[in-house]
Amino acid sequence: RKLGYAVVGLGSYATRQIMPRIAQCEHAKLVALVSGTPAKLEQYGAEYGIPKTHRYSYADYDRIRDNPDIDLVYVVLPVFLHAEYTIRAFQAGKHVLCEKPMAMNSAECEAMIAAGRKAKRKLMIGYRCHFEQYNLHVRKLIAEGAIGKLTAISAESGFYAQPGQWRLEKDKAGGGSLFDIGIYSIQAARYLAGEEPEWVSAVESTDRSDPRFATVEDRVAFSFRFPSGVVANCLSSYSSGHNHYRATGRDGYLDMEPATAYEGNRLFKGRAYAGSEAVVLPPPAKLQWVGQMDHLAECAMRGAEPIVGGEEGLRDIRLIEAILQSAREGRAIRTAGA
Ligand code: NAD
Repeated sequence: RKLGYAVVGLGSYATRQIMPRIAQCEHAKLVALVSGTPAKLEQYGAEYGIPKTHRYSYADYDRIRDNPDIDLVYVVLPVFLHAEYTIRAFQAGKHVLCEKPMAMNSAECEAMIAAGRKAKRKLMIGYRCHFEQYNLHVRKLIAEGAIGKLTAISAESGFYAQPGQWRLEKDKAGGGSLFDIGIYSIQAARYLAGEEPEWVSAVESTDRSDPRFATVEDRVAFSFRFPSGVVANCLSSYSSGHNHYRATGRDGYLDMEPATAYEGNRLFKGRAYAGSEAVVLPPPAKLQWVGQMDHLAECAMRGAEPIVGGEEGLRDIRLIEAILQSAREGRAIRTAGA
């Protein structure tokens, strides 16, 4: 049978990217909605054929415990609510797919992981790029030696953050660009290198007279050194658009731009001084969201650990903490090995 998802938080990402794709899943379907806005429950309930018995307010949320149609909960709320709604889902006996960034800080991540273990339920983080065909192909090419021994990575993530949204409030978002978008560069550096950074250094550039940045960081340039010697140079920004990464090896490079888009990622393979050519893949069997949602359903059915579980989310939050500490203290930080 297909397992049933309850989607919690009917905002932009849930309604535009996630809900329209669940019907394409092989192992999952949409069975319930959770929202604080009755009009949204009415609108999306009707659109997706979700009966009134399967529509919940936040006050009602714990009652999902009594609904056997709900196996999986997809938390698509602002970051400050991730830990609470994940832990309450575990207490209701459900598996959880929680959006990135996992939580406000590493202590919250640890509490989420512990709650999942206690409930014997699976926790997965919404790192869709692990299910996106071009990102997977780059990793495969690197592993096959297509660019020789990997030496360096660069990764840039950013957009112009419009004022007046929860993303610009530290007590709702955990922090600024690093939490929301720079995390894609952290992820890329880690999955391209295939290992964990041992050194982190960073500089921050935030115009505190800009009302957008009263509480959160804007631009952060950060570097990692990995145990193999691979170095990564990364940028996170709320002031300009960036969506690019490059993995360079002794014999060439793989370049992605856009690298982590919803659609239209483009891969180029090249050599320094010699230019590059596009690598074009046939359409994927499953879109990234479909692969992601099916993966948690399969893990729940088989008792397997998701490839991007809570520990993966925690690693990134720990790195964000180290990056911000490095920028604050003006020194490189040695990680605990992540
Ligand atoms: P959004 O603001 O559009 O949606 C958030 C929803 O939470 C809204 O419906 C809002 O009403 C609801 N909400 C409930 N309680 C709230 C409260 N107290 N304060 C504010 N909002 C409250 O945001 P979004 O862009 O949909 O982001 C939601 C989550 O999805 C975030 O964690 C974000 O990082 C993540 N996201 C992931 C991707 C991705 O590609 N993986 C893309 C976009 C967003």
